[in-house]
Amino acid sequence: MEYSYLIKRRKTKKINLDVVSIGGDAPIIVQSMTSTDTRNVKATVAQINSLAEIGCEVIRIAVPDKEAVRAIPAIKKEIRIPLIADIHFDYRLAIEAMKLGVAGIRINPGNIAQERIREIVKVAKERNTVIRIGVNSGSLQKDLLLKYGGATSDALVQSALQNIKLFEDQGFDLIKLSLKSSDVPSMIEAYRAVAAKTDYPLHLGVTEAGSLVGSAIKSSLGIGTLLYEGIGDTIRVSVTGDPLLEIPLAYGILRALKIRKVGPEIVSCPTCGRCEIDLLRLTDKIEKALAGEKDYLKVALMGCVVNGPGEAADADIGIAGGKGQGIIFKKGKALKKVKEKDFVKVLLKEIKLMLKERKEV
Ligand code: SF4
Repeated sequence: MEYSYLIKRRKTKKINLDVVSIGGDAPIIVQSMTSTDTRNVKATVAQINSLAEIGCEVIRIAVPDKEAVRAIPAIKKEIRIPLIADIHFDYRLAIEAMKLGVAGIRINPGNIAQERIREIVKVAKERNTVIRIGVNSGSLQKDLLLKYGGATSDALVQSALQNIKLFEDQGFDLIKLSLKSSDVPSMIEAYRAVAAKTDYPLHLGVTEAGSLVGSAIKSSLGIGTLLYEGIGDTIRVSVTGDPLLEIPLAYGILRALKIRKVGPEIVSCPTCGRCEIDLLRLTDKIEKALAGEKDYLKVALMGCVVNGPGEAADADIGIAGGKGQGIIFKKGKALKKVKEKDFVKVLLKEIKLMLKERKEV
C-alpha cells in the first residue's frame, strides 16, 4: 500500500525493468547491489534471494570481466527480481550483458568513451534494455572537473545532461538517472537541478555512505530530503558491509515519510527514570522476530504506563511496561496485563493474530 498526503511527487516517465515499473505512478522501488563475487553463482544467487526475501525489488551485480558476464544466465535463472548489470570501462561487457538478457545496465559515463556509449545505446535500443546513466562524483569526466573546479553539483548535472543528449540523439529514452555523491548537500542539489531539467526517472543514493549508522544518517538526509520534495523513483541505500542491512534502512526512510507502508514500524521510547522493564532487550527481540515481515503494522514499545499508551495512541499494537509486568494495548485501548517474562511471546502472538485478522477482512 502506498500513500502520500503531504508529498506531491514529480511526474516522470515510466519505464519497465521486467515486471517492475519505475517512475510515473509506480511505487518508489527499493533496490540493492550484491557484495559477492559475481563469478560465484551460488553465493550471488543466495544473496539475491535473501535480499528479495526481505523486500529488495531490483538487484544489481558487478560485472567486471568476461567470466562475470558469463555467469549472468545462471544467476538470472535462479532469481525472481529484475537483474541489472553494473559496468565500468569495458563497453563490450555492457553489450554482452544485454544480449544475455539483463533487464537493465548501469554505466558510468565518466569511464566509457562517447563513441563506445553510442554502441551500447544501439544494442539497448534493439533489445529494449533500460540504461541507468550513473554519474558519480568520484569518476566525473576530466573536462567537467576542470570546467567546474571539481565534482560540484553543477558538474554532476552537466555530465548527466550531456549523456541524455547522446542517448536521445540516437532515439533512445529508456533512461534512469543517478547523480551520486558522498557529500549530502551536493547530492541533494544535483538531483534537484536535474529534476528541474528532465522527466526521466531518478535513482537516488548517497554513495560511499559508510557503515550502518553513518549510512542511516546520510541516506535519510540525502534520499529523505529529496523524497520529501517529491523527487525520486527508486532508491538504494548503500552500507559498507552486508547488503541485507540496506533494505530495512530503505523501507525505514519510505515508512518515516509515509510514502510506502511496508513492514513493521517499531516505535520505542528512549526510556527515562520511570522505566522499570528491560526495554532495550524487548525492542531487540521484537525487531529481530519481525525482520522480513512485509505487512505494515505500527508496534509501540513503551517503558511505562504514565505516558506510554498516550504517546503511542496511533500504534496498532503495543506494550507499556510497569514493575515486572506490562499492559498490552491495541489501537490505544488496554487489552491485557502480561508478566515481563512473557512480553515477547504474548506480543508476537497478538501481532500474528492481528495480521491474520487483517488478511481475512
Ligand atoms: S514512555 Fe515512560 S519510560 Fe518511556 S520515556 Fe516516556 S515517560 Fe519515560
